[in-house]
Amino acid sequence: MTRRADHSPDRERLETVAVHPVEPMDLLRIGFVALCGLGSLLEIGRAFGRIDVAAVAGVVVGGYPIAEEAFSALAGRRMTMELSMAIAIVAACAIGEVSTAVVIVLFVLVAEVLEHMTVSRGRRAIAELVNLLPEIATVDRNGALREVRVAELEVGDTVVVKPGARLPVDGFVVSGRSSVDQSSVTGESMPAEKIPGAAVFAGTINQTGALEVRATRIGRATAFGKIIESVEHAEQSRAPIQRIADKLAAYLVYFALGSAGLTFIVTHDIRSTISVIIVAGACGIAAGTPLAILGAVGLAARKGAIIKGGRHLEILGHVDTVILDKTGTLTLGAPTVVAVRPCGATTSRTLIERAAIAERPSEHPLARAILEKARALGGELLVPDEFQSTPGGGVVAKVDGVEIVVGSAAFLAERRIDTRAHRPAPGHDSEVFVADAQRFIGTVAVADVLRPEAIQAVDALRAMGMQTMLLTGDAEGIARTVGARLGVGEVAAELLPDEKLARVRALVCEGKVVAMVGDGINDAPALAQASVGIAMGSGTALARETADVVLLGDDLLTLVETFRIARRCRRIIAQNFRGTLFVDGAGVLLAAYGLLNPLLAAFVHVASELVFVLNSARLLHAGPSVSARPSRGTGSPMRTDCPKVRDSMGAASS
Ligand code: ADP
Ligand code: MG
Repeated sequence: MTRRADHSPDRERLETVAVHPVEPMDLLRIGFVALCGLGSLLEIGRAFGRIDVAAVAGVVVGGYPIAEEAFSALAGRRMTMELSMAIAIVAACAIGEVSTAVVIVLFVLVAEVLEHMTVSRGRRAIAELVNLLPEIATVDRNGALREVRVAELEVGDTVVVKPGARLPVDGFVVSGRSSVDQSSVTGESMPAEKIPGAAVFAGTINQTGALEVRATRIGRATAFGKIIESVEHAEQSRAPIQRIADKLAAYLVYFALGSAGLTFIVTHDIRSTISVIIVAGACGIAAGTPLAILGAVGLAARKGAIIKGGRHLEILGHVDTVILDKTGTLTLGAPTVVAVRPCGATTSRTLIERAAIAERPSEHPLARAILEKARALGGELLVPDEFQSTPGGGVVAKVDGVEIVVGSAAFLAERRIDTRAHRPAPGHDSEVFVADAQRFIGTVAVADVLRPEAIQAVDALRAMGMQTMLLTGDAEGIARTVGARLGVGEVAAELLPDEKLARVRALVCEGKVVAMVGDGINDAPALAQASVGIAMGSGTALARETADVVLLGDDLLTLVETFRIARRCRRIIAQNFRGTLFVDGAGVLLAAYGLLNPLLAAFVHVASELVFVLNSARLLHAGPSVSARPSRGTGSPMRTDCPKVRDSMGAASS
């Protein structure tokens, strides 16, 4: 990795994922110890008397760094390969087998270098992400174009991005048209078309045309900065499995000493006893687990899923129930108004205008649709004097002393507004009810499109044996239609935020490992309650903050991919667990029977740990992507041991 001579605080923080190449000193030392081993073999040192000078020199020079590591492991009460091998080396020397000791030293040094190379390859994969950010940006300040360092950019700056250049900030396009390769941030392989108003992300590549971008987030705050941060964080925040691995490593010390004691009592053979100590300390699980977690979190990040810690990765690997929110999660969350249905003397224009005034301050996708429609009709919109939003219900606004209520039928019913004049619309569009001065004035029908990959994603989840559930605040009819189209196991509609929460809590209490996927403010409590909360990248800031995992690209297949990666990580760690127990168990038996001499035992120990580290390193490579699964309904039968959905609760809640 090429380091840059840039020391802006932001970049420095981004580069805390440091990569240390193999040091020449290490290689020199290995060379020297190897020569000493050879010398000892050829008995060159013997010329100076009875002491094997070559072997002693090798043990002293090569053993020094091992002893250092061993002492720090001892102080930290951790069992490491170095500690176990230090015991072996001392023991070998004690029985006069200095030439064995020097070969063990050589094994350890070589294994350390190999392990180091593997781990830094993992880190490098992540550090390379950092290099995706440009250093210099062209910024438009008061009409003059200036080149400034990215670290000096500010939110609100307009940045000019030439074709072929990387975007330095998150923001939106103010002018220009282009296609942008967003694979580094969202994992999507297809370039995305960008026109004025479109959101763009730092670290992505502008391809065809020049773009002017208004910066909304810079440095660490960008989606890209978050990727780096979460990956660094994931490595520090230890997964429970990691603690188990460390504990196992500690128990292995007692196991090694116990087995050795027993071997000595039974066989009185000091060489077998030493072999037992050497082989029994092998702990591939402690060596391999951090790398597996690092690799999985890094891989998920590159696919567009930010996992905010090793703990969440582990839970993701165990998930058996996936709860999906509808609006903004299964649908694009970019609804359009398809019909304006006033009642009484109200005109369409008045209806949409009144609704739009009330929705102006709202962040809800339905609000955006209504505002867009109002803007298309032209004219100035008043700004409400008072505004109150009820997640999962609707909004109440006051303008010139008149109250406007916009929301679900139940929301209006709660406010004692008579909506009997309403006749249900044909088709399956969401309807938003509008009341002006306590009087129902009509509905606005809004259609939202299912995400193109939603069916495939739900199929894939089912094929993985997961139970799927749709929870929505929207009306029953629409929820059922969407649920049936996707083949979701269970549907519950017209839920208020705390009812969503209650559903999730009930499942968690039943012992299910629940992933909740949502985007809205109304989903936040449920996201927090779920075993693991997953937010859509385009979701509200609250959802993204509350969630444990964020899907940057909003791609539901990334969700599937993330589960796959987590499961793969879990499998690899389990393999390392079993492998460690097997190697240690079998090794101890062989050694106790005198079938492993100290040298072979050291080889088995070092080689097995290396194998487990390499096994974990498989996660550093991207696995096969989610493929289309046309096999609808071939998944395992759904478990439906959860209470069945109530038919409607809207009317009951007034
Ligand atoms: P979902 O759970 O599917 O994401 P929400 O809980 O966000 O849906 O919304 C549920 C229902 O509440 C909507 O279908 C709509 O009727 C009503 N609603 C919520 N917020 C608003 C709003 N700002 N404007 C109009 N209706 C709203
Ligand atoms: Mg939603």
